[in-house]
Amino acid sequence: MIKIDDLIARLGDIPMITGEKAVKAKSRDFFWYSPILKEKLDHITSDLVVVPRSETDVVTVLAACYDLDIPVTPRGGGTGNYGQAMPLAGGVVMDMTRMNAIKELRDGVAVVEPGVLMGEIDKAAHEALGQELRIHPSTLETASIGGFVAGGSGGVGSIRWGMLAETGNILRLRLATMEAKPQLIDLTGPAINHVHHAYGVTGIITEIDMPLTAAPDWVDMLVSFPSWEDALNAGWQIAGTEGLWLKLLSAVEVPAPENYFKRHARFLQQGEHVLCIMVAPNSADALEGMAQELGGRIAMHSGKLGSEDLKGLPHMYHLGWNHTTLRGLRIEPEITYLQIGFPDGHEIETCEEISTRYKGEIIGHIEFTRGNGAKRASGLPLVRYRSAERLMALIKELEAMGCPVWNPHVYTLEEGNRRDADPDQLAMKKANDPKGLLNPGKMIAWDRSDYTYDPDHTYTYPDLQSRGRT
Ligand code: FAD
Repeated sequence: MIKIDDLIARLGDIPMITGEKAVKAKSRDFFWYSPILKEKLDHITSDLVVVPRSETDVVTVLAACYDLDIPVTPRGGGTGNYGQAMPLAGGVVMDMTRMNAIKELRDGVAVVEPGVLMGEIDKAAHEALGQELRIHPSTLETASIGGFVAGGSGGVGSIRWGMLAETGNILRLRLATMEAKPQLIDLTGPAINHVHHAYGVTGIITEIDMPLTAAPDWVDMLVSFPSWEDALNAGWQIAGTEGLWLKLLSAVEVPAPENYFKRHARFLQQGEHVLCIMVAPNSADALEGMAQELGGRIAMHSGKLGSEDLKGLPHMYHLGWNHTTLRGLRIEPEITYLQIGFPDGHEIETCEEISTRYKGEIIGHIEFTRGNGAKRASGLPLVRYRSAERLMALIKELEAMGCPVWNPHVYTLEEGNRRDADPDQLAMKKANDPKGLLNPGKMIAWDRSDYTYDPDHTYTYPDLQSRGRT
C-alpha cells in the first residue's frame, strides 16, 4: 500500500496537487497518439503530484519517498508520446515546471533548471546573445528542457547538429539520486547518455548545460513537387549540401499537405508533395535556385510575404516532426505513426517502394537529419490505423524490407530503442536508485537483467498500477 498521507505530512510547505481530477491530468502525456498505448494506459494515475521549487525540495521529496517506498515519476510539459511521464505503479508525479530558472547565459552555453520551456530559453538567449538552442522538438513552446533531454531524441536543428545523443549536444547534467540521503551528481561526457532518453529512471535532472548557436532570422519555405519521387530526391540532395544553413528539412507526401496543413493549403496546388524548410537568410537564394533546378516550385517564402499574409500562419516547425502527426490526427482521428530508418545507400528508393506498396495506408513523412557526420533520412510515416494486429504485421513487413522500426507504441526503453538490457545503464540505475522507485515499469532490465529484444513479444510491466493507497 502506498503511504501517501504519511508522505504529505513529511513534505512541509512543498507545493502539491491532491484533487483527483487534477492529479489524473498531471499523470498523462501524449500517449494517446498511440491507439495501443491509449488502451493499455488510459486508467493510469498517480496518488499525488508534488511541485518542487528547488533542488532542496527535490532532495526532500526523494528522501521521503525512498523511506516510504513510494515510486516517483518526473514530469516536465507532459508532451512525450510513449507514456514516458505516466506513473505506471502510481505513487508520486514530480512536476518539474516550477524549477524554471535560466541561471546563466554565456557565449555558446545556457545553464538552466529542468522545468524551463525551451521557447523561454530561446527568447532569453536571443535577447542576451543573439543565440538559441541548437536543437528543439517541434513542441518548442510547451515542452521543458528537462523533458526533452530525458524523453526526446532530436528535432528542429537535427539537420545541422544531429540527434541529441551526438557527443556535444548536451554538455552537463546534474542529477539527484533516489537514496536515503539523495546525492547530487554532475555528469559530463559519455555518462550523459545513460540519462538522456532514459525517462528519469537513472535520476532526477536538476540542472542542465545546453550548447547554444547563432540565431539567424530563419526564413520559412514550402517547396512543392508534382511527385513524391521528385520531393524525396530534392530533399536528399539539399540535405547533403553542406553550404546551405538549414534548421528544418521535412518531406511530406500527398495528401497530407493539402488535407492537414490547413493554414498553408492556400499556397499549394492539388496533389503537391512538399518540402518544409527553415533556412538562414544568407542561404535562402541559393536554396531557392537549387530547389527550382530540382523541379520544385517555391510555394511559400516567408521573406516575400506581407505582414497580412503572415498573420495566423504557424511556424514551419509546426508542420514538421511530430506536429505532422498531430495535424493529421486533428483531421483524421484514426491516424497514428511509426518511426523508421532505411537501408544505407537505398534510402530514397525504399521510401518510394513503401509509398507504392502501402498506398492509402501509409503517408510518407521524412525528416532529413545528420548522424555521425553523414546525411540521414528518418521516417515518421503517418499510418491509417486498422488494428493492433495489422500495425504489428506492418512493422514486421517494414523490418523485412530492411527498415528498422523504433516502435512508438511501447512504453519501455528497451523496446522503444530496439535493444537488449543495457548493463551500463542498469549499473547506473542500481547505484542511483537502489530500490527501483524512479519511474518504475519503463526499464525492462530492472526486472530482467538478461532481457534480449524480442519484437514479437511486447513486455507488460507486472505491477501496472496494481497498488492501493492508504
Ligand atoms: P515530459 O513528457 O513531461 O517528460 C518526458 C520524459 O522525461 C518522461 O519520461 C519524464 O519522466 C522525464 N523527465 C521530465 N523531467 C525530468 C527531469 N527533470 N529529470 C528526469 N526525467 C525527467 N520529441 C522529439 O524528440 N522531437 C520532436 O520534434 C518532437 N515533436 C513532438 C511534437 C508533438 C506534437 C508532440 C506531442 C510530441 C513531440 N515530441 C518530440 C515528444 C516530446 O515533445 C518531447 O520529447 C519533449 O521534449 C518532451 O518534453 P516534456 O517537457 O513535455 O517532457
